[in-house]
Parts: sequence; C-alpha cells; structure tokens
Amino acid sequence: MTPPFRLSSRLASLLGAGLLSVSAWSQGAGGADALRAQALSLADATEAQVIAWRRHIHQHPELSYQEVQTAAYVAEALKKMPGIEVQTGIAKTGIKAVLRGGQPGPVVALRADMDALPVEERNDLPFKSTAKGTWLGKEVPVFHACGHDTHVAMLLGAAQALSQMRADLPGTVVFLFQPAEEQGPGPVLSGAPAMVQAGVLDNPKVDVVMGQHINGGFPSGQINYRRGSLMASGDVFKIKLNGKGGHGSSPWSANDPTLAAAEIVVALQNIVSHRIDPLDGTTVVTVGQLQSGNRPNVLPDTAEIAGTVRSLSKKNQKIAHDNIRLRATRIAESHGLTAEVSIDTGYEVLVSDPAATQRVIGALEAAAGEGKAREVPPTMGSEDFGSFGKNIPIVFWHLNASPYTDRRGAPNHSAEFMVDEKALRVGVRALVGSTLAYMRPQTAAAQ
Ligand SMILES: [Zn+2]
Ligand SMILES: [Zn+2]
Repeated sequence: MTPPFRLSSRLASLLGAGLLSVSAWSQGAGGADALRAQALSLADATEAQVIAWRRHIHQHPELSYQEVQTAAYVAEALKKMPGIEVQTGIAKTGIKAVLRGGQPGPVVALRADMDALPVEERNDLPFKSTAKGTWLGKEVPVFHACGHDTHVAMLLGAAQALSQMRADLPGTVVFLFQPAEEQGPGPVLSGAPAMVQAGVLDNPKVDVVMGQHINGGFPSGQINYRRGSLMASGDVFKIKLNGKGGHGSSPWSANDPTLAAAEIVVALQNIVSHRIDPLDGTTVVTVGQLQSGNRPNVLPDTAEIAGTVRSLSKKNQKIAHDNIRLRATRIAESHGLTAEVSIDTGYEVLVSDPAATQRVIGALEAAAGEGKAREVPPTMGSEDFGSFGKNIPIVFWHLNASPYTDRRGAPNHSAEFMVDEKALRVGVRALVGSTLAYMRPQTAAAQ
C-alpha cells in the first residue's frame, strides 16, 4: 500500500531506530495508522519526564489564581519544545501554547488545570507537599488533592510528544493550562470560563477541546468516557426576603419573612417533581441553609435561603433557575415582601459531545489497552471544563489511578488522595492518540 503522504525524516528515523514497527506503518489505513503509532511511541517515551514534572508540581502546589510558580515552570518546559509558541498571563496565570503541524487539518485544544486545594497532605511520600498558602485571609496548607499536578504533567508530556512529530501533524494543537478550576461558583469566574472570555478559543479558531481528570478509581489506567452528559452543572442560589419585623404576639402588624421562607423552601421542592422532565437529565434542587430571626417572640425583618442546583441537562438547569426566581418572587409578593434572588452559575453541565467522543473512542481504547476504556453513567459531581463547550464540541474522560491493586483509592479532595503514577503514561497516550484520531479524517482528505 502506498503511504498517503510523504515519509518524513522524523518518521523515517523512528522506523530506523525501531521505535515504530514497519508493520504498523504498512497496516490498515496506512498513513493515519502509522502516524498514530508514531504518536503513541513518542508519548511512551515521555514517561520518566512526565513523572519528574508531576513530582515537582506536587511538591510546589498553589491555590486558585495563585499558580504563579506553576505557570512559570510550565512555560519554561514548553519553551524548550520545538515549534511551540507560548503565551502567558492569560486570565491571570493561565497559559496558551500553540503547535502548528506541517500538514493542514483541524485545531484541537487540550486542557489541563493547575490549581491545588487548601488541604493538608497526609501521604508519606518523598515529594509530599508541605506548602502553605493564603485563602480567605488565612494561612492554610496546600496540596494537589484533586490531582491537577498529574493533569499538568500529562499535558506537558503530550506537548513534548506532539512537538517531536510536528512535521507530520495534520492540524494545529492548542495547549491550555488554566488556573482556578477549584474556584467554585461565585462572583469570581473560575479558570475555564475566564480563559474562554480571554479568547483562548480564537486565533487559531479551535474546533474541539479535550481534557481528562484523574481519580482514585480502580483499576489503575482504565479510562471512563461517555457520549453525552458526563458531569453535572453546579450552581449556588441565594434568596433574601425583605419584610417588616414586629412582636411575635401580633404578626398581623408585621410582614413575617420566616413564614414566607418556609413556603419557598417547600415550593422549591416541587420544581424537580413538577417542572423537570426526568428523562431529560437528572436534576437536584437542594436547600442547605435557612436563616431567620434570633428570638422566639421577635419577628425579624429578613430571612435568607441558600442552596445548590445540580443538573445533567442545560435545559433542566435553566428550568430550575427560572422556577427558583419565579417561586421566590411570587411567594414573597403574596406576603407583601420583596425577594432578592441571585444564582451563581460557576460550572456548566459537562456534555462530552457524542459525535466528537465517538471519533476518539478507538484512541482511548488504544491508550488504555484491551477492554480498559469503558462508557460509564454520568456523575452529579461538577467540573468547570464544561465552559469550553458553549459553542464548540468538547470531549472529556476520567482516568482511574488507584494506588491499590484490589480496590479504589481515597477520593479526590481528601487528605489521603494518591495516584498510581503508572496511569500517567496512559493519560499521555490518551491525549496524543485522541488528538490524532480527531485529525485523522483531515489526513485522509489531504491525500
Ligand atoms: Zn477538585
Ligand atoms: Zn479537579
């Protein structure tokens, strides 16, 4: 079979060095398969370096929007890679790096998040974190309890592998190192929407964004993906009722916000039962706080309600928001009160685009090995990666990395969170393999 494109000198040298088998080159769809095999060989070759990067970042964790040293370390590593243009200081500490391949093709963005959490590490490791940071004005311990150190290291590994094959690369790769995934819903945007607002998906115009998250799941090295909603939106709502206080013995002379607050709490519960199509995506409306008054015989002026909305459907998320506002304001009005409703939408529903995900499933299987990439049900956890998917497709998967051979490891965010570093090789393979798999149809078209 004639190779569909010229054999580059890099590919020829890999073949010569035995890093890529000639049979891989000559099999199946020819050039595209050989290119993927080349990418996986280069990905595997980064393993030791990826672990070294990860350990350094693990030992020097930084909190959301404080990733100054981490960003400098990442930029320094990227600048040593051939053909990569690096921009720093995006959305405070974020980095965008661009690698233009030697062949025409789509623009694939790969994302890692860089921030750690105010948690004290309890693992006994030679590179254990003893770092401190400042959070809400207080000194706190800092630890990569969500594994973002591994995300950064794996994306650097992917950048290194792809930069070494840039002459053959059928498209452009944009590497996004974002700050503040853990920022959470609130007045300050978390890192993903802040990066989007800063224009990281333009110039070059990105066609798809892919990302991954490590967890303590078992067995290590397994990849969990889903065609469709994978993780829920996570929003916070607050309702403040303004009434008129008075004596508990004569409520008719006051406008009691406590009674209205109680009615609103109950009314919010029937949003899920009576306004949401359950087949359209699981949705949860939870009231976690209700504060009103401080004496049994005094009616207060105000009452406050706060809670969370989680949903696997953008449509249901909107229905829940609209109905929280409607019920709160109408019930308040019926009591002669006013209601101030605020909803902070920090995290979007994370919908892994079905068609784009379909396109990379084979690559995820090749990365993890026979039977180790699986389609899984969604979770009600949240991740700000969904913000990249407002106008373009996104693909996301979870990478299991339990340090134990027979059970799950500690959950993310816990003081004992730990990963099996052997899973990092699989993560780098998944990133480069999926990039090539997404670009592959363009390779065919360019023949
Ligand atoms: Zn987290
Ligand atoms: Zn995380």
